[in-house]
Amino acid sequence: MDSQLHIFFFPYMAHSHMMPAIEMAKLFASRGCKASIVSTPANAPHIHKAIESGTNLGLEIGVLSIRFPTQEVGLPEGCENANSLTSLEMMNKFFTAVNMLDQPLEQLLMEHRPSCLVADLFFPWATDVSAKFGIPRLVFHGFSFFALCALASLLRHEPHKQVSSDSEPFVIPNLPDEIKITRNQLPDYMKEETEFSGFLKKLDESELNSYGIIVNSYYELEPAYADHYRNVLGMKAWHVGPTFLCNEEKEGYKAVRGQEASISEQECSNWLDSKKSNSVIYVCFGSLANFVDSQLMEIAMGLEASGKQFIWVVKKGKHEEGVKEEWLPEGFEKRMEGKGLIVRGWAPQLLILQHQAVGAFVTHCGWNSTLESVCAGVPMVTWPVSAEQFYNEKLVTQVLGIGVGVGAKKWARLTGDSVNREAIEKAVNLIMEGKEAEEMRSRSKALGVMASRAVQEGGSSYEDLTALIEDLRLQRHCCGSK
Ligand code: UDP
Repeated sequence: MDSQLHIFFFPYMAHSHMMPAIEMAKLFASRGCKASIVSTPANAPHIHKAIESGTNLGLEIGVLSIRFPTQEVGLPEGCENANSLTSLEMMNKFFTAVNMLDQPLEQLLMEHRPSCLVADLFFPWATDVSAKFGIPRLVFHGFSFFALCALASLLRHEPHKQVSSDSEPFVIPNLPDEIKITRNQLPDYMKEETEFSGFLKKLDESELNSYGIIVNSYYELEPAYADHYRNVLGMKAWHVGPTFLCNEEKEGYKAVRGQEASISEQECSNWLDSKKSNSVIYVCFGSLANFVDSQLMEIAMGLEASGKQFIWVVKKGKHEEGVKEEWLPEGFEKRMEGKGLIVRGWAPQLLILQHQAVGAFVTHCGWNSTLESVCAGVPMVTWPVSAEQFYNEKLVTQVLGIGVGVGAKKWARLTGDSVNREAIEKAVNLIMEGKEAEEMRSRSKALGVMASRAVQEGGSSYEDLTALIEDLRLQRHCCGSK
């Protein structure tokens, strides 16, 4: 039997799922495993680019492609990534196509017989498919331990069914801290039976039947919740993050992460280099949230009123000379010249967050963004939109004390709750200046230092990865998988 472990990684096709999975593949490869990333043809070039630095170093990482059934579900050719979906109808079609990937995956598993399959949360059928070949399946959520615990508690105890209104706060039962939330802040599929509610149950079942969970977090960030998840909820879990720290030293990685940035690394660095320490606020809402024009207008006004310098990422195309942009106040960019930088499209987020000029981050609390901010020692203005972001907000503001909420009260897929300019101005000022802001910054910095230690030899994430690899070796030895 070959002594090298061969691990399959099968991420959901969206930047925020693919990036940490690719990084995880590199992490396993750097520890002597062979890693294969399963994806679709349109996503493969990006993955090849992202793993280049690893393969150049002699790491064994490859890409295996399976066909994405765009034609069968009525999606345009090449539409193989959730980031290119522009309507609910497209999302539904995309999900249908995703659920047709079980057969091609089975074929690949049969051909390659890997030692383990790390498959995304959104592929619940992967547990059964891999069981056919005696291959252990690990689930990758991309969630924090905190969010995993909160979700498990809500699913088990259903406290949201015992309140009389959507705005009445209730406690999420049995967590290490008293965490209150409202029904408004929960996803629609938790509040009413939708197609996705059934799917959620399947996810939960497939997770319980899986070999365990792999978490992109580190112990020191959320020790009570890492313990709670394992010891109280009884889940088998390994934390190996922050995964992006394993790529830190590779030149150029920060600039190309996710997709090609709309601004050059040089231009961005030059702009930030000209600013004082902690004087710039970075505003970005991840890869999926897409605010309406009136909300963007409020953000512009709030930022201007705060008087702070900023980099603001907006999902809009290049500005055409002479064309009025409805989402910006008249003359805004002229007034803000030198003070505010608008990036239309994709920004090199890691590079920005790690620049010493950046003093705070207005974020939607996606777990990748949250973790990147924590690691850079940057406190946050929390503005959750959807997914599990309202739980992450509680972790940041209430448990870690490194952020202030902007006051978003409603979960709303893609568009978010509306927040007015005064609330934005207030939150930006609170996080950028004053004693409280200083304290939050210093707590963030301490957590950032702990993150770097966690991934180094002897650190908590490094050791948990060692334990997982040992476990998989033992498993293979006992069960005879390849
Ligand atoms: N990101 C980036 N540039 C952008 C927008 C996002 O590099 O302009 C990256 C960001 O660094 C993070 C990811 O995209 O790694 C977003 O993931 P997250 O979990 O925060 O949110 P999601 O996109 O899933 O809502």
